[in-house]
Parts: sequence; structure tokens; C-alpha cells
Amino acid sequence: MLLFRYIWVKMWQEIAKYGRKLVEHGLVESSFGNISVRAGDKMLITRSGSALDEITEDSVVEVEIEGTSSLDLIASSESVVHREIYRRTQALAIIHAHCPYSVVGSLRAKKAGKTSILPVDSEGQYFLGEIPVVMGGIGSRELAENTALALSEHRGAVVYSHGTFAVGKALSEAYVVTTQLEHSCRVKYLYELAEPREFHR
Ligand SMILES: [Zn+2]
Repeated sequence: MLLFRYIWVKMWQEIAKYGRKLVEHGLVESSFGNISVRAGDKMLITRSGSALDEITEDSVVEVEIEGTSSLDLIASSESVVHREIYRRTQALAIIHAHCPYSVVGSLRAKKAGKTSILPVDSEGQYFLGEIPVVMGGIGSRELAENTALALSEHRGAVVYSHGTFAVGKALSEAYVVTTQLEHSCRVKYLYELAEPREFHR
């Protein structure tokens, strides 16, 4: 029982740490986005509407990955997406943020008739390859399936007009993927702004 308590405390403290970092670095506004970690056949996820830079033990809930539970009512509205990702990938941690340049990248990609964003920076090309742009309304079944499918082959994806989903074996990894997604989309945006003719060749 003591060990279980220790693990629970470590897990919500880790969620709190990365929640603060996301807000501090402008990757999400305080009351949006959500974070989860997998613990066996359950996941610990931020509550609906919780401020990511003010996470306490009461800001997270534990819900089943298979099936639903009564706590779903207070869990993040994107729990359905987190569940499907854990079901269909090897992910042990997930970060969903509303990174501004990534959202702009998804809008521009769709306008150009593309289903992914190709980074122009070498780091992005190396770590991310192409960045899938997935469709679906907030908390919808369609979004859950499209995102899980994209993340079965990629470490990060951008939901069209909405934000990023990044996975890892730990939150530290999912956080790095989130920052890389945003960095690559930012560099691409600035490059296209500086060299519009180069881009449209
Ligand atoms: Zn969102």
C-alpha cells in the first residue's frame, strides 16, 4: 500500500512538472490541454478544466483504459483520445497541447491539400519525419481513432485547427516531442514567410 501511494505521488508530481513547463513555454494556455501517464491497465489523466500550471493531487484522476468508469465525468474531455492511443500504441505517456505554430501549420497544410506537415529543419526531419495532420472534433470517436492510428507510426501529430498530441515512454519524452513539433512548425512558418517564392516553386 505504501509503494502504491509512493508511485501515485510520483506520477501526479511528474504531471504537474510538465504541466508547468508547457504553460511557461507558451505551448498551451493554462486551462487547456491535458496530460496522462499509463499505469498498467489504467491511466492517470488531468481533470477536465484543470489549470496545467497549478496541478495538485486533486487535479488528476485514475480511469480504466479498457471500458469506461464513473470518473470519466470529471476526467479530461479528451480521455477518449488518450485511451485509444494507449490501446493501439506502445505509449506510456501522452501530452496534448495547443501549440500555436503547430495549429497554424495544420491549417496551412489542409489549405494546400496535404495530410501532413513536412519539417524543413534537419532536426525535425530526423526526429519526426513527417508530421501527420489528423481530423476530428474535440473528444470525438473519429478524433480518437485518427490520432491513435497516426501515433502508431509517429511520435507526434497535429489535430487540424486544434493542437498537438505527443507520446513517449515517459512524460519527459512526450514533452521533447511536443517542443520539437512546435519548433519545426515555427521554423517552417518563418521560412515560408522569408522565402515565399522558394517554397512555392
Ligand atoms: Zn485540446
